[in-house]
Amino acid sequence: MILIHYGEIGLKGKNRKMFEDVLVKNIRKILKDEIENIRREYGRIILEEREGVDYKKIKEKLEKMPGIENFSFTIPLPLDLEEIKSKALEIAEKKQFSSFKVYAKRSNKRFPFSSIEINEIIGKEIKEKLSKKVDLRNPELTIFIEIGNKNAYIYTEKYKGIGGLPAGSQGKVIALISGGIDSPVASWLMMKRGCKVIFLHFYNENLVAYPRKVEEIVKKLAEYQGETKIYMVPFGEGQSEIIKSIPSRYRMILYRRFMIKVANEISRKEKAKAIVTGDSMGQVASQTLENLQCIYDASAFPIFSPLIGMDKREIIEIAKKLGTYDISIKPMEDCCSFMIAKHPVTKAKLDRVKEMEKNIRDQLIDKLIKKSFEIKCTKN
Ligand code: ATP
Ligand code: MG
Repeated sequence: MILIHYGEIGLKGKNRKMFEDVLVKNIRKILKDEIENIRREYGRIILEEREGVDYKKIKEKLEKMPGIENFSFTIPLPLDLEEIKSKALEIAEKKQFSSFKVYAKRSNKRFPFSSIEINEIIGKEIKEKLSKKVDLRNPELTIFIEIGNKNAYIYTEKYKGIGGLPAGSQGKVIALISGGIDSPVASWLMMKRGCKVIFLHFYNENLVAYPRKVEEIVKKLAEYQGETKIYMVPFGEGQSEIIKSIPSRYRMILYRRFMIKVANEISRKEKAKAIVTGDSMGQVASQTLENLQCIYDASAFPIFSPLIGMDKREIIEIAKKLGTYDISIKPMEDCCSFMIAKHPVTKAKLDRVKEMEKNIRDQLIDKLIKKSFEIKCTKN
């Protein structure tokens, strides 16, 4: 069986059941071929696997599932100390170690031995029968024992999940994804906090035939939330119009205000509640505080930038773990840097930006949305 510990959901008080329901639904969907039965017991989710399943595959899937703190492959035992003791000994006999500890947790208070007593009794058995040393601080082997309502569970390995909240427990957001290093990480952080992320990418069709790279990145991220949608917007015509009437030092801000306005429309259509970007304070010219104020002003929806306080090094570390980094660093023309000044303004004034924007037709937003197309991505 597989024992799932879900960390933060456990703190949710009255709403806990709602979060558990979403997590159980997600697990059922993702492991439908591997799992025969799912049940909840004493603040854990317990999965019964089918015969002959590939445990490596189950592990890979659970490691990517938001809402799981850690999980273990476990052997269910009857609620009987003698049986637990002999199983613990049998497991220990097969392992290579010199020091160990027993870590018992009794959730079922009707079980007649306390956690400390279980530790002592089973610890003594292993120590004496196998001549091993107890080390409570830094043991080479830990034998975990959990006393549930129906069974006791025993295991020696805990695999780390990504934590966070179950996918879909927080509603939808629209993420502006560029194909760079940052925005995939920002999108993933929102997935990890339970948001369903819908992607939106702008490309200049005169520079890039089709942004396959972005699709490749989104496929990686889809592993964390299942079925995923990208809106692709050919931005060539919009950019041409902006280039015609906006000085080069201001174009990037106008491009980005445009992206935000389109994102607002898509957000309405999708009934999303917020927009996500990969901005990080001061990282590039578009991300000074003044410029972010000018850009974010174009939105009626809240804009979240989960990387805002992170350093590039920290962002890269996450991107490497996600496997998006190697794709992101492949060269691709990003339309944001098309025909802009070598030194864009770093302290744009909102009044000026709005004044300039009067030269751009509002209908352009509708026109771009009409040109956009959707792509469905599933994981690789
Ligand atoms: P990234 O690594 O995410 O590209 P960046 O450091 O290159 O970020 P910018 O190019 O200024 O910074 O982009 C800032 C944010 O604007 C991006 O993180 C992304 O959310 C959004 N963005 C930029 N270009 C595009 C694009 N072509 N399509 C959609 N969103 C974009
Ligand atoms: Mg970029």
